[in-house]
Amino acid sequence: MKKPDMKEARKRQQKEIKYTKYKTKSNKFGNNKTYFVRTYGCQMNEHDSEKICGMLESVGFKKSEDIEKSDIVILNTCAIRENAHDKVFGFLGVLKHIKDTVNPNLIVGICGCMSQEEVVVNELIKKYKYVDFVCGTHNLDNLLTLIEQRIQTNNRQIEVLSYEGDVVEDIPVIRESKYSAWVDIIYGCDKFCTYCIVPYTRGKQRSRKKEDIIEEVKQLKESGFKEVTLLGQNVNAYGKDIYNDYNLANLLSDVADTGIKRVRFVTSHPWDFTEEMVDVIAKRENIMPYIHLPLQSGSNKVLKLMNRRYTKEDYLKLYNSIRKKVNNSSITTDIIVGFPGETEKDFNETLEIVEKCKFDGAFTFAFSPRENTPASLMKETVSEEEKMDRLHKLNEIVNKYSNIANKKLEGTIQKCLVTDVSEKDDNKVCGYTENMKLVNIKGPKSLIGKIVEVKIVEAKSFSLDGEYVK
Ligand code: SF4
Repeated sequence: MKKPDMKEARKRQQKEIKYTKYKTKSNKFGNNKTYFVRTYGCQMNEHDSEKICGMLESVGFKKSEDIEKSDIVILNTCAIRENAHDKVFGFLGVLKHIKDTVNPNLIVGICGCMSQEEVVVNELIKKYKYVDFVCGTHNLDNLLTLIEQRIQTNNRQIEVLSYEGDVVEDIPVIRESKYSAWVDIIYGCDKFCTYCIVPYTRGKQRSRKKEDIIEEVKQLKESGFKEVTLLGQNVNAYGKDIYNDYNLANLLSDVADTGIKRVRFVTSHPWDFTEEMVDVIAKRENIMPYIHLPLQSGSNKVLKLMNRRYTKEDYLKLYNSIRKKVNNSSITTDIIVGFPGETEKDFNETLEIVEKCKFDGAFTFAFSPRENTPASLMKETVSEEEKMDRLHKLNEIVNKYSNIANKKLEGTIQKCLVTDVSEKDDNKVCGYTENMKLVNIKGPKSLIGKIVEVKIVEAKSFSLDGEYVK
């Protein structure tokens, strides 16, 4: 049994990153067995789940939509917020019931960020005896060995490594979409924002080698993918750990050179976002003009408490530069209200920036402490009621500007990558504009997988309605 150790996870040494290749298993021990994977959290987790599916299918497991009849259920978890935790523990209750009543042989496993948390794993060991295995984020490539050992020995398997992490290439992947693909470019994070657990659960910043990324994009293009999204907790730090003279701006250029129709990237940290990167985005037609640029707070005092390493003035300078240089850009953000020490005045400064920036959208949150982070040791100064009140006020302004941004598109023609049948209406398809706006489109299903022109006929709060033009 290897349990997580948060003290070890916090360490940053100057050790070189090991680049290794995934070791394929020849034993098809999953033949005639089925699996179900539930994903919580961010895009990196969604992509990790695609790898989990890829590994399972490589040894014969088949995907199932029916949990009760599955042989194995894996929860790929998120540790970023309290409610993600609660959801996982709630779902474990459902799985226990299934094991107790209809499927006693069901194997239940936990992967993802929660598996890297010492308190969580200790709780799973003590109180959740029906969880059959726990696999950490750093050894995901060893998942099949843990499952095989669990099947062969009937013993619970717990393997979580608390170290800075390596890079494993060529893990098999079953992608959710045939047209739009996630591509990891950097793992981990060294920013240590005081509220965030990610640097402890995902290890240090480790960039993939540029050749491996570019080759992956070329192959995706050849297989018919129209869009790639370059992924990392902080993509703007790409290359800093392994190259002296190659960064995200260079990588974006090289990925754009592959000729793939659309290039996106997420998530950005304003501190590492250079003018060189803005210029590349502005210049290259196939780099989409959509940027998610987390602000978190509009108060310099709170930004400092959060250890965000930029001031509101720095943020505004970058924001204005993107707006000026990148044609038709849209910018979304993340904001936390009620951080320890945030006064009414600090909160009003956040509202002022939101009024200035007129974001296309924002993910807004009330602060909730994550155990073992520095912010969890700060004295909470904002009551839950006040947090909710601030969140409500913020959301009103965010929604106002999001509606205005959507309304501006009414009557315009937008290029959309059509990805699926619309969830709202079986007779429509849906897709995303270059600015990452979801459009429900009146048009035939044969459009799926194509980039087409769509006339925007109506702006709704969280989506647009459009008609296929050509
Ligand atoms: S940049 Fe900050 S918020 Fe983002 S993953 Fe790193 S520590 Fe967390």
